[in-house]
Amino acid sequence: MNSKIPLVDLYSQYKSLKKEINQVITKTIEKSEFINGEDNKLFDLEFAKFCDAKFSIGVGSGSVALDLVLEALEIQQGDEVICPAHTFIATAESISHRGATPIFVDIDETTFTIDPDKIKQKITKKTKAIIAVHMYGNPADMKKISKIARTNKLKIIEDAAQAHGALYMGKKIGTVYSDAAIFSFFPGKNLGCYGDGGAVVTNNKKIADKVRLLKDHGRTKKYEHQILGYGGRLDNLQAAILRVKLSHLDSWNKKRREIAEKYSTALKDKYTVPVKNDDSVSSFYVYTLRHPKRDMILKYLNEKGISTGIYYPIPLHLQPAYKSLGYKKGDLPVTEQVVNEIFSIPLYPELRPSQINKVVRALLSVV
Ligand SMILES: *Cc1c(COP(=O)(O)O)cnc(C)c1O
Repeated sequence: MNSKIPLVDLYSQYKSLKKEINQVITKTIEKSEFINGEDNKLFDLEFAKFCDAKFSIGVGSGSVALDLVLEALEIQQGDEVICPAHTFIATAESISHRGATPIFVDIDETTFTIDPDKIKQKITKKTKAIIAVHMYGNPADMKKISKIARTNKLKIIEDAAQAHGALYMGKKIGTVYSDAAIFSFFPGKNLGCYGDGGAVVTNNKKIADKVRLLKDHGRTKKYEHQILGYGGRLDNLQAAILRVKLSHLDSWNKKRREIAEKYSTALKDKYTVPVKNDDSVSSFYVYTLRHPKRDMILKYLNEKGISTGIYYPIPLHLQPAYKSLGYKKGDLPVTEQVVNEIFSIPLYPELRPSQINKVVRALLSVV
């Protein structure tokens, strides 16, 4: 009974779907249809429908999705693309992979998403696009961002790798305010497969067609290649697994929101609890608190058998890999302050009330 409470519990989710999941895995192997299969086709249709989008293209991972979208949008050497530094590195890597330069912009200190008011001063003649990241599932301030983008003729890409099913202005995030959105199906994400997977979602047929070509070696016929592309496909086994899980996603997200609500109600007097932008509903990929005594709190929770995480401890502008860009400490003060104080606590749909209470009790007694 004293087992550690994990941050995510993929096995308990599998147990609840075991029969269905095992069936589709066996079926896929029996048919030996592993690449460009029927489940790939159906998942693309079903995920597009889930996002209220015209097109969804399954690809090899969220990172691949970012790479392909930036190529489809013709981001190239010499261009600048604006993004937050408070995100997973794949967001910015996709910019660098094009030979373009990521321009890191600070975040809002309450929502942890890119601060639109700080975007304007970073726009130059070279700026081509903005990548908005829905951090922790919390939609970025898309109305303000899209206004800036329209005025300056910039493309918008939504990095929704953590935000499957999040809502903005009452609609599923993904296409309303952007040219395209990317999703990750990394196992721990709100919708996760059993390996790597991702998708590009868009209402723009040109972008969709280009991504579809790029992810499969630019192939138009079996041995005919229209353009140079990549080996960037989602495999059929993952698509089959994702189809089973997609039908549960809305109810899983609902549970995540209910647990988040419980946490916030119980913890709001002692911690800074998650804050959302206007007109948005988070998908709560993770539940992130903020407190100046973070490190002491994490040590205590660890002793109590409660797992925690920090998403992410080193902001991108201070990563060794981005040393050549010349950023230094103090360049993004809000981001730097936030990463020293944030921590995430266990949140997954199968989390039991007794576990939630244990986490809350520990957090209330430690400060
Ligand atoms: C997970 C994640 C990615 C990358 O997705 P993968 O499927 O792991 O390649 C990109 N951006 C953000 C914000 C993420 O959380």
